Amino acid sequence: MAAKREPTFRESVDLMFNRAVALTDLSPGLEEKIRVCNATYTVRFGVRLRGQIHTFTGYRSVHSEHMEPVKGGIRYSMGVNQDEVEALAALMTYKCAIVEVPFGGSKGGLHIDPREWEEHELEMITRRFAYELIKRDLINPAQNVPAPDMGTGEREMAWIADQYKRMATTDINYRACVTGKPVNGGGIQGRTEATGRGVQYALREFFRHPEDVAAARLSGTLDGKRVVVQGLGNVGYHAAKFLSEEDGCKVTAIIERDGALMCDTGLDVEAVRGWIARHGGVDGYPDGRYVRDGSKVLEEECDILIPAAMEGVINLENAERIKAPLIIEAANGPVTAGADDILRQKGAVIIPDMYANAGGVTVSYFEWVKNLSHIRFGRIGRRQEEARHELIVKELERLNRGLGDAWEMSPDFKQKYLRGAGELELVRSGLDDTMRAGYQAMREVWRTRQDVDGLRVAAYLVAIDRVALSYQSKGL
Ligand code: NAD
Repeated sequence: MAAKREPTFRESVDLMFNRAVALTDLSPGLEEKIRVCNATYTVRFGVRLRGQIHTFTGYRSVHSEHMEPVKGGIRYSMGVNQDEVEALAALMTYKCAIVEVPFGGSKGGLHIDPREWEEHELEMITRRFAYELIKRDLINPAQNVPAPDMGTGEREMAWIADQYKRMATTDINYRACVTGKPVNGGGIQGRTEATGRGVQYALREFFRHPEDVAAARLSGTLDGKRVVVQGLGNVGYHAAKFLSEEDGCKVTAIIERDGALMCDTGLDVEAVRGWIARHGGVDGYPDGRYVRDGSKVLEEECDILIPAAMEGVINLENAERIKAPLIIEAANGPVTAGADDILRQKGAVIIPDMYANAGGVTVSYFEWVKNLSHIRFGRIGRRQEEARHELIVKELERLNRGLGDAWEMSPDFKQKYLRGAGELELVRSGLDDTMRAGYQAMREVWRTRQDVDGLRVAAYLVAIDRVALSYQSKGL
């Protein structure tokens, strides 16, 4: 018998969409309108580098413009192609809907291995790519706002913002043309950590619902849970760091490009990250067991598996052997549609990508709002808030003296209570609230509908419903 063919990433997203949309009563026309990708622009451009012209291929795909601007990262990777970019753009539409970020879905990519180029070369390539997109309004504060993704970060976003400013010299809102910028270049505190932080908040919310925890054959809290993480990049590093440092999780394995590290008592995430930065991989790290075939470590016993590297890593080939009862998709599309079926049949609970990694786009939304309002969050109200807290504390202390100093406030409480919220606190508060609300919307559907098998179908249903409402309100 021929082996079952693994669908492409975009087919996988469409299959999952179709499974969910079949449970709705939307008209076939509207179903199709929501599913399809509106447009994909392919650009091939040349840059003179190292004495010769190199041609690069890039994409910007717009999945849905039911809300504008459309939003989605720009990825630098040799895996970039039209199919991948369109799949990621579709996920962006659903992601924004789940976390109620008022954007449509988009995504971009450049077929490049960024590690092959020097910084000044990457700057030339990025500026040229941005130029091609800007002149077609595929980067624009009102229409299309990129962000970082795999292989890009705040450095690339700063180049893009500057390129836009050079081309749109009178646009006072130029900074809002891209998010994920450095804080001193119009960015917002907490954006770099946001996706990993969102993964942490998503897990915290999951563990607030004992019924859901039991569905994953787990119990208790995050404390002591064994975590395996794949990809110690932006998303994986922050998620693993926060879960181990703040929630008592034990990171028992870290899987990277060159292999994996394992340690039953828990790896020091910060130390491993430092090792990778110095040595280019995990091999040789002294305080863990090295396994050359990293992908095998996905199959290790653990409580929570966090694929945070790339798509398609849990597929028809290995799904049967995955033992984790709870998988949180920090990367986009790490579980293929076929693997999703197998895992659900095995009873695993999967917290789907379109919700799990939505922390990045949520804080990008805050950054965009900050850029349009031209003021840092908290700047106006912070001291006023502190003054009001101080009033209460002073009054309580006065009353206490009347009682003969019967009690005393701990200095720690006083200090924390008196401190007004700055930008980082406000960003974290907004992100936490968003991740809680997003999870609750999904679980409500999962828990109340007999025909909904798992959080992913529930997530699609919530997203499809919200996008459909938006189209319907426009008369479509
Ligand atoms: P990144 O480039 O910072 O990190 C990716 C990490 O994965 C790197 O450390 C890389 O070495 C590692 N890696 C690559 N291939 C691997 C393999 N085969 N096995 C093990 N490790 C491998 O990228 P990122 O921004 O952290 O993005 C990771 C995933 O999260 C992507 O799917 C991306 O679309 C998704 N995501 C990112 C953001 C964001 O804000 N950066 C937001 C939402 C979703």
